[in-house]
Amino acid sequence: YDDRDGKIWLDGKMVDWRDANVHILTHAMHYASSVFEGERCYNGKIFKGREHSERLRKSAQYLDFEIPYSVDEIEAAKYEMLKANGWTDAYVRAVAWRGAGPDMGVSAARNPVRLAIAGWEWGNYYGDAKMKGAKLDISKWKRPSPETIPVHAKAAGLYMICTTSKHAAEAKGCSDALFMDYRGYVAEATGANIFFVKDGEVHTPLADCFLNGLTRQTVIGMLKEKGLTVHERHIMPEELEGFEQCWLTGTAAEVTPVGQIGDYTFEVGALTREISEDYEKLVRS
Ligand code: PMP
Repeated sequence: YDDRDGKIWLDGKMVDWRDANVHILTHAMHYASSVFEGERCYNGKIFKGREHSERLRKSAQYLDFEIPYSVDEIEAAKYEMLKANGWTDAYVRAVAWRGAGPDMGVSAARNPVRLAIAGWEWGNYYGDAKMKGAKLDISKWKRPSPETIPVHAKAAGLYMICTTSKHAAEAKGCSDALFMDYRGYVAEATGANIFFVKDGEVHTPLADCFLNGLTRQTVIGMLKEKGLTVHERHIMPEELEGFEQCWLTGTAAEVTPVGQIGDYTFEVGALTREISEDYEKLVRS
């Protein structure tokens, strides 16, 4: 996958895809000092681009490093990368990390901070689940406490259990895994937030120990604009049985219906379809 044509923005320069490499002693690879963003460009415009760049800079600060580029510079770099590849519709991946430097140990104060912006063409994140409803497994791992790790950073280290949970889910024929949090409440999927519908009202876990997704915030706004009641609250796993509809939100996932979580099933109902279609219209408007 690394040996292909294309351009990647790396530390201020456009480089060929196959030359966008880092040294084996990169601090991030050993100690997870890496933060990233996932964005989508629709019709030549990145949806909430600035918010993603701001979150990237903030994620780095949670990990005690400063990205040496402003939001404006990061925005310009993203569009430069898209233009160099000739894309108007693509997924954009910005990643910032502590590079190789004089310090090989845990401390990395003297190591350079690096930034890369790549992209690729990416269709539906959950394939045909977008129409039929995704099937979710329940992860054996729990989202950690905010006292354990900076849970609001979009940091590589928080994805270690996402990858293993997703592998376990896929081995069971599921598209993704749902995490409970350290207290046992319903939290999020491995790369998306979750919503439920019951009796015409919407319920979504309170984002107090996981990423408060930009898509999540957008969808909450859309629901409220429709006059719907949205309860952001702690949700017990026992409540899953009583919910009628369920969907996931995320930049890659967009609004994807969920048909099943473990043994519980949900209908791909009218509100799920409406929100999914409205989101599609909004991002392309
Ligand atoms: N949670 C996790 C763990 C994620 O990786 C993502 C995707 N960035 C989300 C939630 C959704 O965030 P957003 O809507 O900002 O893409």
